Amino acid sequence: MFSKILIANRGEIAVRIIKTCRRLGIATVVVYSEADADSMAVEMADETVFIGPAPAAQSYLVADKIVDACRQTGAEAVHPGFGFLSENAGFAKRLAAEGIVFIGPNPHAIEAMGDKIESKKFATRAGVSVVPGHVGEIDDTAHAIKISEDIGYPVMIKASAGGGGKGIRVAWNQKDVEEGFPAVRAEAKASFGDDRIFIEKFIESPRHIEIQVLGDKHGNVVHLFERECSIQRRNQKVIEEAPSPLLDETTRAAMGAQAVALAKAVNYDSAGTVEFVAGQDKSFFFLEMNTRLQVEHPVTELITGVDLVEQMIRSAYGEKLAFGQKDLKINGWAMESRIYAEDPYRGFLPSIGRLVRYSPPVEGEVDGGIVRNDAGVREGDEISMFYDPMISKLSTWGETRIAAIDVMGRALEDFHIEGLGQNIPFLAAVMDQARFRSGVLSTNYIKDEFPEGFVGVPPTDYQRDLMSAVACAMHRIVTARSAPQLVRDEWVVIAGQDKR
Ligand code: ADP
Ligand code: ADP
Ligand code: MG
Repeated sequence: MFSKILIANRGEIAVRIIKTCRRLGIATVVVYSEADADSMAVEMADETVFIGPAPAAQSYLVADKIVDACRQTGAEAVHPGFGFLSENAGFAKRLAAEGIVFIGPNPHAIEAMGDKIESKKFATRAGVSVVPGHVGEIDDTAHAIKISEDIGYPVMIKASAGGGGKGIRVAWNQKDVEEGFPAVRAEAKASFGDDRIFIEKFIESPRHIEIQVLGDKHGNVVHLFERECSIQRRNQKVIEEAPSPLLDETTRAAMGAQAVALAKAVNYDSAGTVEFVAGQDKSFFFLEMNTRLQVEHPVTELITGVDLVEQMIRSAYGEKLAFGQKDLKINGWAMESRIYAEDPYRGFLPSIGRLVRYSPPVEGEVDGGIVRNDAGVREGDEISMFYDPMISKLSTWGETRIAAIDVMGRALEDFHIEGLGQNIPFLAAVMDQARFRSGVLSTNYIKDEFPEGFVGVPPTDYQRDLMSAVACAMHRIVTARSAPQLVRDEWVVIAGQDKR
């Protein structure tokens, strides 16, 4: 096994990777920018290397600095986490040339799958059902209109190099294409330095269901079932769960088989995710493959008991998968809530600043369930404008879906953050909604259920009673200060009666 791994990332995912390395007895090196000098990951790592200013383009994205840090510390392998250099085939090749192991798939798989147009071609050849559309580049607006008409409206205009919900636009008619095509092209050029665009059918009110796959360097690939990530805002995931309430055994097996076939077609040899959009009728179509560890991987770990970071490290080292498909079983249900530094009462406006108070719920076994909080921050830390605004990922496990939701509801209630806007009240409101609890999800869920945005929720009868009781008690305390004899006896009686 490796004796030292460098983590080319920051925040919660760096902390997450350190935890597994420690358990496996592997020493860790963390690289950090100016903004992260006092971070939790830096505190936890065995060794640290400073790599430059806060903007990622001058630190976390500079391959040379990562390679130098490996040389300087003798790290044998690099875990890239997600984002940053994780899906950069050039970086994976560069490491190989330097004799350093990339803890992720081979560069050929990253290249084949990193690009949406190329990956759809691969998927079609591997017998995977893809979203109907034009699998190829589009030259200009006239060409885009012609293709949209052939596909039939509504369509989705997408950047081939897109990611993180960027470079995507729905068009319902010709006018939308006339406006949308140049807009997506410009955004793609600016965000990804690549303006290749394609167009596919827009599946209305679909569900986002993805399959976790895991491969080794010996040709073995298994899937670790599905995650449903339909609760999205602006095409970005907010709440994820595993398994999906939509799937039955037959559909699960069919999706799993297609994901494994696609992974095998590119000799996939690490953890990866095959994303699909699914209709309410359980039809499903390939969207893209993410050739990295996924943000929402904890829900899969909670239902399978497999540590995905450990498996990535073992595969990268050259070990064979220690289990086959038949050894994997779904146990219970898991939920993940992404706690973001954004203000739900103000249109989810980003809200950076200091975590004046940061008090997460107790982790571990709680009420017959499990609470897990993946975080990279402590009280007093700052959520800065330089990186992703995620504060933490709160995951829960229960024997049933409702049990997992209820554990999540309570954990959210026990999560206290002050100093910046955060979306905990919004997440808690979703956990309480009858529609969410019944599992009737779609990527339109937030738009459907919060048409006016989030304005908070009225208190339940119980909460109203509790608040009235507290108000009465407070009133009596104030009265007691001015006229103690009058109230004292009565107060003792009230306090003694209310056991809640
Ligand atoms: P997941 O499917 O793992 O939830 P997301 O789409 O939320 O993935 O992206 C995970 C992280 O990777 C986010 O920090 C996002 O900003 C970043 N990311 C994803 N794709 C790209 C890309 N093509 N370019 C830059 N950053 C990306
Ligand atoms: P990214 O690389 O940004 O994650 P995806 O292609 O995975 O881009 O799309 C992001 C989200 O947009 C999906 O999770 C889904 O909710 C929605 N989406 C993408 N393609 C379609 C489509 N053809 N029809 C309906 N929704 C789609
Ligand atoms: Mg995606």
